Amino acid sequence: MSYQSIQQLLKTAPVGTTVTVKGWVRTKRESKNAVFIALNDGSTIHTIQVVAQPGQLPEETLKLITTGSCLAVTGQLVESQGAGQAVEVKIEDVTVYGTADPEKYPLQPKRHSLEFLREIAHLRPRTNTFSAVLRIRHALAFAIHKYFNDNGFYYLNTPIITASDAEGAGEMFRVTTLDAIKPPLNEEGKVDFSQDFFGRETNLTVSGQLEGELGAMALGKIYTFGPTFRAENSNTTRHLAEFWMIEPEMAFHELEDNMNLAEDFVKTVIRYAIQHCADDLAFLDNRLKEEEKTKKKEEQSEFGLLEKLQFVISNEFVRLTYTEAIDILVNSKPAKKGQFQYEVKWGVDLQSEHERYLVEKHFKKPVILTNYPREIKAFYMKQDPDGKTVRAMDVLFPGIGEIIGGSQREDDLDKLTARMHEVGIEPEALWWYLDTRRFGSAPHAGFGLGFERLVLFVTGMGNIRDVIPFPRAPKSAEF
Ligand code: ATP
Ligand code: MN
Repeated sequence: MSYQSIQQLLKTAPVGTTVTVKGWVRTKRESKNAVFIALNDGSTIHTIQVVAQPGQLPEETLKLITTGSCLAVTGQLVESQGAGQAVEVKIEDVTVYGTADPEKYPLQPKRHSLEFLREIAHLRPRTNTFSAVLRIRHALAFAIHKYFNDNGFYYLNTPIITASDAEGAGEMFRVTTLDAIKPPLNEEGKVDFSQDFFGRETNLTVSGQLEGELGAMALGKIYTFGPTFRAENSNTTRHLAEFWMIEPEMAFHELEDNMNLAEDFVKTVIRYAIQHCADDLAFLDNRLKEEEKTKKKEEQSEFGLLEKLQFVISNEFVRLTYTEAIDILVNSKPAKKGQFQYEVKWGVDLQSEHERYLVEKHFKKPVILTNYPREIKAFYMKQDPDGKTVRAMDVLFPGIGEIIGGSQREDDLDKLTARMHEVGIEPEALWWYLDTRRFGSAPHAGFGLGFERLVLFVTGMGNIRDVIPFPRAPKSAEF
């Protein structure tokens, strides 16, 4: 008898056939009429009920079948007598692959807190919540590759170890093979990186963009999708030290094209998840509704998860400039009442509280903010003629804040090098980057989407550490 996943089986196996299912026991319930075991194999949020007659299984076998143990069961697929499932398997033969001592197995059939589950990240994929999140994460990754492939983009793998620390996107993790206790020193008494593995100081990448631009200036449209590292010591619910970033970069795209692409892209992948992850999303939707009930009335959100996703894909994102946004913020109630923690005025970097006010209170829609002051954005962004702003764009989402950051890039060599001097970046250090502006420069643009922030949004989870299998954050790298 060939083995099928539970997902396959629930979808296609005809009643009356003999089937084999394999999976982990979620619950076992014994009544005087039968023994009911719920098996889950991770292929779907659903369990399959397998049923034994009283006395059918030897007592010593029955004892081994506890929550968390792993079984293979062969039997006839029949219509279920009980409520809650259409079909069940009448056990004919059972093999216990692995037991799980109930005294020690930490996942018991009850609700565990997300904090507790973070401490057992090696087992939490066996819970409904995490398996649902991980299946949705997979679907979104697949949808992203599909979107770019369907739209003529090439997948470019940019390096994970880089020597450029010029981008300034965040604090970096050093990569070295030098002796940690006694590194070689130069004449100035500093670490002599010329003796290091690469003959220079190297770090884990904070962004693939600069190399992505090199690709776009040859292949036209590229995207990266890879791990990204930032040693930011911020313990927030939206930052990880290791996260995955998607960075499309397109020749011949200007700011407006960039915005259009970003909006179409996120809507398309969210639509894909709605279409392909219905069961998992329904589960998370319910979970969230239960959670909302425990909150005070005024803190409950007006939207369920599915409604929120539908809302985002069926409404146009609001587009406005940073300057317009500052106007709104300065005249907002919380600003007048002194309720913002950080001051807002033209020139400041928007804090998450400001971004969320615009999205959640003022517009009640995703927002694309453009044309930020050049001082608060990276050197490579295209300068506006006013000399004050650059062609940046940030996409802001409800509950998340910034989900995408991007820009049209400065394609004028002189302006770019002048800006580098101003911010203290040695153009020589990025000679290869500047070569794209020396040889066949062209207007181009791109953006970075933090994958986990997208997964956060789509799953409705509240903490970014709960949407990546094994999170990396300050003081946390156990698994
Ligand atoms: P933030 O202001 O939220 O820290 P950023 O402006 O530093 O983000 P960018 O350099 O613009 O981020 O990176 C592009 C995208 O990568 C962001 O829009 C966000 O979705 C994601 N991102 C950035 N830093 C992190 C992080 N530490 N963990 C997870 N995602 C991140
Ligand atoms: Mn940003």
